Amino acid sequence: MAGTTGLEPATSDVTGRRSNQLNYVPASPRGISLMLTRLPCAGKNHLWYRGEMKTRALFGAAILSALLAGADRKPTPEEARKFIDDAEQKLLVLAVDAGRADWIKSTYITDDSEAIAAKLDERSIAATVDFAKRATRFDGLTLDPVTARKLKLLKLSLPLATPSDPKESEELTRIAAGMEGTYGKGKYCPTGPASCKDLEALSKILAENRDPKQLRDAWTGWHAIGRGMRKDFVRYVELANKGAKQLGFEDNGAMWRSKYDMPPDRFARELDRLWEQVRPLYLSLHAYVRHRVREKYGDLVGANGPIPAYLLGNMWAQEWDNIYPLVAPPNADPGYDLTALLKQHKTDWKQMVKYGENFFVSLGFSPLPQTFWERSLFLKPRDREVVCHASAWDIDTLNDLRLKLCIDITGEDFLTIHHELGHNFYQRAYNRQPFIFRDSANDGFHEAIGDTIALSVTPEYLVKIGLLDKAPDTSKDIGLLLHRALDKIAFLPFGLMIDQWRWKVFSGEIPPARYDESWWELHRKYQGVAPPGRRSEADFDPGAKYHVAANVPYMRYFLADILQFQFHRALAQAAGCKGPLHRCSIFGNKAAGSRLNTMLEMGLSRPWQDALEKIAGTREMDATAIRDYFAPLEKWLNEQNKGIPVGW
Ligand SMILES: [Zn+2]
Repeated sequence: MAGTTGLEPATSDVTGRRSNQLNYVPASPRGISLMLTRLPCAGKNHLWYRGEMKTRALFGAAILSALLAGADRKPTPEEARKFIDDAEQKLLVLAVDAGRADWIKSTYITDDSEAIAAKLDERSIAATVDFAKRATRFDGLTLDPVTARKLKLLKLSLPLATPSDPKESEELTRIAAGMEGTYGKGKYCPTGPASCKDLEALSKILAENRDPKQLRDAWTGWHAIGRGMRKDFVRYVELANKGAKQLGFEDNGAMWRSKYDMPPDRFARELDRLWEQVRPLYLSLHAYVRHRVREKYGDLVGANGPIPAYLLGNMWAQEWDNIYPLVAPPNADPGYDLTALLKQHKTDWKQMVKYGENFFVSLGFSPLPQTFWERSLFLKPRDREVVCHASAWDIDTLNDLRLKLCIDITGEDFLTIHHELGHNFYQRAYNRQPFIFRDSANDGFHEAIGDTIALSVTPEYLVKIGLLDKAPDTSKDIGLLLHRALDKIAFLPFGLMIDQWRWKVFSGEIPPARYDESWWELHRKYQGVAPPGRRSEADFDPGAKYHVAANVPYMRYFLADILQFQFHRALAQAAGCKGPLHRCSIFGNKAAGSRLNTMLEMGLSRPWQDALEKIAGTREMDATAIRDYFAPLEKWLNEQNKGIPVGW
């Protein structure tokens, strides 16, 4: 937590998943994350890594003048190819330099290492903006598909297009930085300066405290930070739309959606279709949790209405695993304790990483290079400050792979290592692609891969590697599945609604006078949660979520949650697994490994539908794999829910 980018996750990782250490989700803005030299796990909660700085870079003002400059002579396809080759070469060099500096900054935090990393980052961002602008000169040319795709990715790489008017451009840049700064500095000071609590402290209350008064106070205190952003946000929407229109998009939301290799409106419909597939399971989970939370808090929770957001263990009610102890079934003991097993076997940090590497080797991947072992950071140093959040890096985008985490001998870190190495093996698999294509097939894929691998850490796998003597009976699985569902299933409607709201804001369907009202309407519609008490349009609750305040698109997290189960089911089928899906592990199966590798090595070179087809045999995302995976839990939930209201 010691970095000073201001982007570190403000919550400490309470559950292990998806906040910092594990953070299963890449915040990486694909496209120009070309320049990303690592694929860290930041996430839905917060972001902190260098790649994210790229996202925040603004697509600069001179677009129109660039167009005009090119207008006196029509460029040729050959010039376009040369241009993109040149861009790739230069951006690669800058990315590697910035990556090295960033590595040092994260593993040896000093004022100097931070200053140097910031400078090289800025240089890399500036070059990207410059190339992206100049790429518009080739608009309308008939090009070969590879060049056309590279140019498109280059131009879509930044999430905000500033208007061509220099004053407006400057204003948007200032507003965007200001809102993020307001969020980063946000504190709740109930009784004067000495009482101030930051997001980390407030999140800890939400996660651990069970006194509804204190929970509500922490929730309300944090959400008040949004108020100061409202006016700026209105202006940000106007200016961002103006910039997006100048690039040929209907609005900023349409620009974000256009990254997904399908018409923006069709993409939006796809997401609704996926949600409908998984919604029955969510309804069952919601009803069960509401019932149990009502047993704890009484009439604060209505028997058949939405659940108060502040009672679910998380500031945004986006994952509910912190309240697992409140809702755990009787006999929730899974029959083994991975942390205890690791300790019994006297596992050290190197063996922890070896287990992970061995998982991939068993699938047919080559072992990690010697430099991985020499250059990674595996342990928290005693004598200096480092950023301990787990992340996976590919410094030279070729073979200089590294892991950075401070390993504890726990089951959680065992999972984290498998997850992070998923990123590393993905990075290496696409390293023969041209630089711009060295990335995941869309921004949901990278994190989905890490999570897919983690889903294969089953009791049967632990038996095969000699950590566990005998896999427990599947009747023991409900507790584990419920815990996982409180994380992954509870998240889905939240992951979906954040950008549903923003897309409507950018399109004008939601006017400023309805910002807060519509925010909670969507929470109610998708999640079945409600704010404590009445909110008004003096409030601006969306601003209390990092990704809104900081202009970071969010749909990738929803996609990653859907895709990981689809990948897992497809690979389990390839491996011939006949058991329940949540007990399938692809460990040791070369057929599954080869199917996985075929997809990984494509990188971003083709539309994501092509990549999906390689791994899953279909060009459509499919959320039914989630229902399959959680089938025993869904059955159990429906039994528990007999006689109690479902829905809201
Ligand atoms: Zn990750």
